[in-house]
Amino acid sequence: MNRITKDADGRLIIPDQPTIPYITGDGVGKEITPSMISIVDAAVRKVYGTKKQIKWKEVLAGENAFKQTGEWLPDETIEKFKYYTIGIKGPLTTPIGEGMRSLNVALRQILDLYVCLRPIRWYLGITTPILAPEKVNMTVFRENTEDIYAGIEWDAGSAEAKKLCKFLQDEMGVTSIRFPETSAFGIKPISREGTERLVRAACQYAVDNHLPSVTLVHKGNIMKYTEGGFRRWGYELAEREFGEAISSKRLVIKDCIADAFLQNTLLCPEEYSVIATPNLNGDYISDQLAAMVGGIGIAPGANINYITGHAIFEATHGTAPTLVGKNIANPCSLILSAVMMLQYMGWSEAASLISRSLELCFRDSRATYDLARFMPRGHSLSTIEFTHDVIERINH
Ligand code: NAD
Repeated sequence: MNRITKDADGRLIIPDQPTIPYITGDGVGKEITPSMISIVDAAVRKVYGTKKQIKWKEVLAGENAFKQTGEWLPDETIEKFKYYTIGIKGPLTTPIGEGMRSLNVALRQILDLYVCLRPIRWYLGITTPILAPEKVNMTVFRENTEDIYAGIEWDAGSAEAKKLCKFLQDEMGVTSIRFPETSAFGIKPISREGTERLVRAACQYAVDNHLPSVTLVHKGNIMKYTEGGFRRWGYELAEREFGEAISSKRLVIKDCIADAFLQNTLLCPEEYSVIATPNLNGDYISDQLAAMVGGIGIAPGANINYITGHAIFEATHGTAPTLVGKNIANPCSLILSAVMMLQYMGWSEAASLISRSLELCFRDSRATYDLARFMPRGHSLSTIEFTHDVIERINH
């Protein structure tokens, strides 16, 4: 049996040879995904010999899928992710303004992967725009299924936009739509249940990992019921379910308005540890924090449903169209996402070996161009050379 499942207590059961479905991805996905697979295989082999091995299973999405099946996200791909529980993906193209929903957003919603998990820390050897990057050590829990990302929006001038506008004006007493004739509309659902499951996961993570605080980041000063609700429900949940950790001072729950948070994290990043935030704030926040430790080329991510166990680990950057085919893309975001995947599977020794090997490369000023150009004596390596460098350090 090669399938990852859950037992009656909700714990993941990981076979020694689990099948992991993966999406190669568009653009630079074709360069970074083979790099990630060969590095993970090398680490697993080094740590577990022949006892454990990942059985990689390619599934289609994006341009590849469209060429082969006429569909951008075939049902079969979703079924495979459901069946095998854990998967990993490279970046996928989302054409702007062509009416096609983001494949990433679709996958998160269909599988109800309600947490977007982004650990952000600095690696020795990486040069960054801030003076003390070692102070940045945060884990962002971004809500993944609600907010303006729910995709409930209508184009300006459409019959639906006109109908909604009329409803708001005639039946809801709304007088503040400045240009009703030319407005597009979007709706922002944020629920108590959606907030509670996210904040619960963030608090549990903080407690399990002995981290000092969870900060609720919101714009409740402006959006009083949606983001204000997020803040209120978050505090209530934390008090109700983590009261003992809070009263014994093992866990502090605090909140911060999103714009102030972006400033504060630049000025005093050491004050923040675990972050819980709605979808759109989380999008901005995770990219800023990633930039502070070296950029999205090195920032990993995962989309997780802690209740069903389903998880898709992913490169956080896009398809990087200008880099495609040049063998210069940085594979670290996807590699570090695979490290998160191995940790999630309980294969921590292999995960640590990969992190250590990456760090050894950075310490020797060896990296792909996007990172090496900022290192005082940086050696710019191609994607393939960098992959070999990491594997050499794994096998050392
Ligand atoms: P992008 O992340 O592709 O690129 C932003 C910048 O980061 C560019 O300068 C790019 O060269 C650089 N960059 C990205 N990945 C890199 C890597 N691995 N190594 C070195 N540099 C890297 O964002 P974009 O240009 O806004 O988007 C391009 C496409 O990707 C769009 O279709 C967008 O919708 C899609 N996208 C997908 C995802 C995803 O699949 N998770 C995320 C973001 C964007």
